[in-house]
Amino acid sequence: MGDFVDVKAIFGENVFNDTVMQDRLPKKVYKKLKTIISEGGELDLDTADVIAHEMKEWAVEKGATHYTHWFLPLTGVTAEKHDAFITSPLPTGKVLLSFSGKELIKGEPDASSFPSGGLRATFEARGYTAWDCTSPAFVRQDAAGATLCIPTAFYSYTGEALDQKTPLLRSMEVINQQSLRLLRLFGNTESTKVTPSVGVEQEYFLVDAEKFLQRKDLIYTGRTLFGAMPPKGQELDDHYFGTIRQRIAGFMKHVNTELWKLGVSSKTQHNEVAPAQHELAPIFAEANIAVDHNQIIMQTLKRVACEHGMKCLLHEKPFAGVNGSGKHNNWSLTTDDGINLLEPGNTPHRNLQFLLVMTCIIEAVDKHAGLLRESAADPGNDHRLGANEAPPAIISIFLGEQMQNVVEQLVSKGTATSSPEGGVLESGVKSVPDLYKDATDRNRTSPFAFTGNKFEFRMVGSRDSVADANVVLNTIVAEAFCKACDTLEPAENFEEALHDYIKEVLDQHQRVIFNGNGYAEEWVAEAERRGLPNIRSMVEAIPELVREENVSMFEKYGVFTRAELESRVEVKYENYAKMINIEAKAMIDIASKQIIPAVIRYTKTLADSILAVKAAGIPEVSAQTELLQKTSSLLAEAQKALNSLRDLVEKAVAMQDGPERAAYYHDEVSAAMEALRAPIDVLETIVDKEVWPMPSYGDLMFEV
Ligand code: ADP
Ligand code: MG
Repeated sequence: MGDFVDVKAIFGENVFNDTVMQDRLPKKVYKKLKTIISEGGELDLDTADVIAHEMKEWAVEKGATHYTHWFLPLTGVTAEKHDAFITSPLPTGKVLLSFSGKELIKGEPDASSFPSGGLRATFEARGYTAWDCTSPAFVRQDAAGATLCIPTAFYSYTGEALDQKTPLLRSMEVINQQSLRLLRLFGNTESTKVTPSVGVEQEYFLVDAEKFLQRKDLIYTGRTLFGAMPPKGQELDDHYFGTIRQRIAGFMKHVNTELWKLGVSSKTQHNEVAPAQHELAPIFAEANIAVDHNQIIMQTLKRVACEHGMKCLLHEKPFAGVNGSGKHNNWSLTTDDGINLLEPGNTPHRNLQFLLVMTCIIEAVDKHAGLLRESAADPGNDHRLGANEAPPAIISIFLGEQMQNVVEQLVSKGTATSSPEGGVLESGVKSVPDLYKDATDRNRTSPFAFTGNKFEFRMVGSRDSVADANVVLNTIVAEAFCKACDTLEPAENFEEALHDYIKEVLDQHQRVIFNGNGYAEEWVAEAERRGLPNIRSMVEAIPELVREENVSMFEKYGVFTRAELESRVEVKYENYAKMINIEAKAMIDIASKQIIPAVIRYTKTLADSILAVKAAGIPEVSAQTELLQKTSSLLAEAQKALNSLRDLVEKAVAMQDGPERAAYYHDEVSAAMEALRAPIDVLETIVDKEVWPMPSYGDLMFEV
């Protein structure tokens, strides 16, 4: 069924990738660009002119009429401003198409409308976008026709980062330097570059577009602000990995095709735990490209959903009562000659380099747990983290049985002499072969899990960019590598010093290792006993960015300046307050204009019925009366809650931006929103479906 997709033929067809560059660029230019891509450096204008011209020719052949610098401001979504390739009309009335090197490498969007957290007063509008040639340009085809998209970094007139890419690129440089130092300790002189590899699993929901459009909460906020649970939720576990329905399958096929054309290696797709929830994972790539690709994935999911009469919900918690959506950030370190620093090999206890790498990561995560937690904080994620759902808000590391055993030996003896092996898994069925099982079982409740040759950071929200998480991971691990190298490089007896170092560091930081059930109540108490931070909300997490030790780390490695961090803190508080304010206002709007009027009409129907039945000579009206009483009292409760929410929002709006205001939204306004939701959700279960003004959870989740 459907059209045949020739994956090999279409893969990357809309990407200005290495093959295209090699084909189109003069040899000298190609070489120069390749050197800059792998080693960094500045592109001279003449070279840029040649590249821009070829890029334009190529894009125009693909139907492109416009180009855009494509960047990641602090709004969490990509930004773009389209410019046509046309020049001013010639005397003949015709136009030419042109694209210069200057236009390729530098753009000057008005930065005043993007969040900068005071880094730049609005009258100093100048911001620059600069070509990031490590992430390939691509042509995106959509209703706008075709647009040449050039991934860029975005910074202010004074050079401060106004985006997520700039710090990411800086952090990649730092982890590269420190990883190389670590490799040299072990005699590796061959590898010349170490890059963080990142694989991002993206969860999302799909709902019918017509139903979506009847829900103002989804339209304004991306999540439902009201809604009673349907009779069936996710309790049967029948959706996870279940058969993919035809409508969804058609959507997935279309998404994959679009992604493959853009060089995104979409690989895995399946139904997720909640009804109407799904997942897409590409094959891992260099951190920078993985981050860009994740943005492309999110945009493609949304766009293609519309073409199939659906809406894709990327919010972390579109529905209360069923699982929310996250984004698993798989992370490892790879050398240019193909070594994965997180690969334990068959005998991890003898793989000293691997043990040092693990030790450093454990140290980094324990030391900067708060920072890592902050990197996954966004308003939507507050509904997941710590809310007894996918990962708790406490950062801990799951190592698995094999590594755990090795660590225990190291801590107690300073050396490890064995590691438990995987062994054979007997299926017990003759026709099914016995499998070699992994040395490590999975633990789905851990926020930071070692999964064989990579770590999986599971806290990031589904709508959030993974840039922040990777900036933090790269930097904190680089810091730990640096500290290890500072100690070990001058050591006279390297082996001895190494053993001591590993033992000492593990001793100090093993408290962060936890292999048990992260969802259990006991873990919260146990973590507290261990002194691990439990940061329950975004508002509580934000100050981690400007904790003194974090500021000095970021400054030392040149990833963020203090001013940049302070500006981000400001942006985050403001952003949080704005989001909750929109949600609260949407609730007020929906409750007062849609739900309460509908319920009032319903009470009239009940009252009319009571009178009519009595008038017909039947005194038995207890059902109607009971219902009327119940409805009326819930209605009164809702009205009261609505009034107090209105008051609180008014107060919040009058407050000054900053931590107090954000905290007010978190503590007071959110609580008032809950108080309004509660009676309305009960009302939904008793009021006639015919009069309820919007599709129910059941309609949304089970009728896609
Ligand atoms: P899971 O079983 O955790 O759901 P998936 O197959 O959905 O696994 O996703 C795993 C992700 O991890 C993929 O994006 C995959 O490419 C990525 N990955 C695999 N190996 C590495 C590695 N060494 N470094 C980073 N990411 C990796
Ligand atoms: Mg997965």
